[in-house]
Amino acid sequence: MNNKTNVDPQEVAKFEQLAATWWDPEGHSGPLHKMNPVRVSFIERHADGLFGKKAVDVGCGGGLVSEALARCGAKVVGLDMGEEPLEVARLHALESGVEVDYLNSTAEQHADGFAEQYDVVCCLEMLEHVPDPQSVVAACIKMLKPGGHLFLSTINKTPEAYLTTIVGAERIVKALPKGTHDFNKYLRPSQLSHWCEANGAQMKHASGLFYNPLTKTVSLIESMRVNYILHAQKPEHHQ
Ligand code: SAH
Repeated sequence: MNNKTNVDPQEVAKFEQLAATWWDPEGHSGPLHKMNPVRVSFIERHADGLFGKKAVDVGCGGGLVSEALARCGAKVVGLDMGEEPLEVARLHALESGVEVDYLNSTAEQHADGFAEQYDVVCCLEMLEHVPDPQSVVAACIKMLKPGGHLFLSTINKTPEAYLTTIVGAERIVKALPKGTHDFNKYLRPSQLSHWCEANGAQMKHASGLFYNPLTKTVSLIESMRVNYILHAQKPEHHQ
């Protein structure tokens, strides 16, 4: 698959429609808002701090992660293939006075021009929306400087994930619009780790993310049966 075709226009269209309410914590991006502090602190901790580092946020959407990384002192580039989410992200950054460079690009296109440029590469809740997730993982690793840190999060391919994210979130609670997720695109942690290692990054940390519907908060848990986040690192040249 070449780097311009690894986009599912129907998937991107879903996010174009959600863009207007992206920063509403009570809207359809609510689950992302709830996850944000936990995933950003995971990233900051395992990247050994973010201040002054160059980071790219692949599939940045309305910019929840990009802005948070920038607030931690990173110089951030946000990539997305949706024009509407990017517009929302640009306006919101102006409002909050945070500097992020938002670009309409795929990971693969950006990696062609910016190989080995980033200390930190994040690709959160995006791999389950692309035709060829392995190609995105490879592009993410290509963008990393030697010693750079990669963070990937997605949803596991388990019955529990089907029940919570599709039956629960989309059909019962209606926290997400019907059709947001496709179970067939969910990815096992072993699959993602394998792609990381196959593309020259070493697995470092893995954690589950648990949404507690009573407290409406997200915490890190050992079980990766539903949402999870992985940390891998590109080895230094001399290794
Ligand atoms: N990473 C953000 C947004 C997740 S939503 C967060 O976790 O808060 C998934 C985003 O991926 C959407 O904004 C969608 O437009 C984007 N996307 C889907 N396919 C893409 C592709 N091939 N290249 C870049 N972005 C893509």
